[in-house]
Amino acid sequence: MVEKLKQAIRDIPDFPKKGILFKDITTLCQDPLSFQRMVDILSHRYIGRNVDLVVGIEARGFIVGAALAYKLGAGVVLVRKPGKLPYKTHKASYSLEYGEDSLEIHQDAIREGQNVIIADDLLATGGTARAVVDLVEKLGGNILECAFIVELNELNGRDKLKPHGVYSLIQY
Ligand code: AMP
Repeated sequence: MVEKLKQAIRDIPDFPKKGILFKDITTLCQDPLSFQRMVDILSHRYIGRNVDLVVGIEARGFIVGAALAYKLGAGVVLVRKPGKLPYKTHKASYSLEYGEDSLEIHQDAIREGQNVIIADDLLATGGTARAVVDLVEKLGGNILECAFIVELNELNGRDKLKPHGVYSLIQY
């Protein structure tokens, strides 16, 4: 089942920079069965865990996060690039596999003690998700796990997210 999902992901060499092998999940998302399977596997993992909120990371994390939240009967929280969120925000900076950036969350997006899953398409170095972990912790959210479609094992991103757990459907 997971092997089918793996086949649905497209490799794009040298995007967005030379030397990066981009794992393109758009081909997985546009295939109805693969998309459904991906959301079902992820959501089954968290059913019964009292998830209050799924935090999706701009932009592909919104797709995973929103679908997962809907299946769990949870709310969805958006973490966005600077200047995109209209209300008061907290900001965290991070370094990417290819560059530097910051992310923002609304200051009232999470209440103290709410159970949170952080969702994105792919875990590489873990810098992006770490920034989101820091934002969620700043608001007092209780992180149950960080969930990804793809994990690039050799970059050890999961170490950066400790002590929080990481779950990924597909590993390379
Ligand atoms: P990182 O902060 O290094 O874990 O990078 C994760 C973020 O960058 C995710 O939001 C991914 O969508 C994107 N990303 C990093 N590397 C890749 C890659 N090889 N293929 C696709 N997306 C990537």
